[in-house]
Amino acid sequence: MSDCLFCKIVEGTIPARKVYEDDQVVAFHDIQPQAPVHLLVIPKKHIATMNDCEAEDAALLGHLLLSAKQIAKEANLEETGYRLVNNCGHDGGQVVFHIHWHILGGEKLAALNPS
Ligand code: 5GP
Ligand code: ZN
Repeated sequence: MSDCLFCKIVEGTIPARKVYEDDQVVAFHDIQPQAPVHLLVIPKKHIATMNDCEAEDAALLGHLLLSAKQIAKEANLEETGYRLVNNCGHDGGQVVFHIHWHILGGEKLAALNPS
């Protein structure tokens, strides 16, 4: 997708602080971190939202999640924990329409369901 920000990061035409790359996924620092560690993990393939994922993407999505686990470990989050977030669509707060997972950690994050 020629006008997609994250496709441009994949291609290298827009710079990013990459922490991991293989033939299927890329991970880089979020430009506006919301936690001490805030990384984004994306597939190289352009998929706009979670709604656009198909059965044929199953292996790619599995690989992406296992990569996220490893990237979190290399960011020293394995023991303390982290949050892995995908925002989908308007109500989910999605701003960039190339599917991505946020890795957030490095501090105790606010509970989703405070009791
Ligand atoms: P969303 O709200 O779509 O789930 O998250 C998009 C994320 O992309 C935001 O956290 C935002 O800070 C990040 N972002 C937007 N533009 C850029 C950019 O040019 N470079 C990087 N590294 N992150 C970006
Ligand atoms: Zn894209």
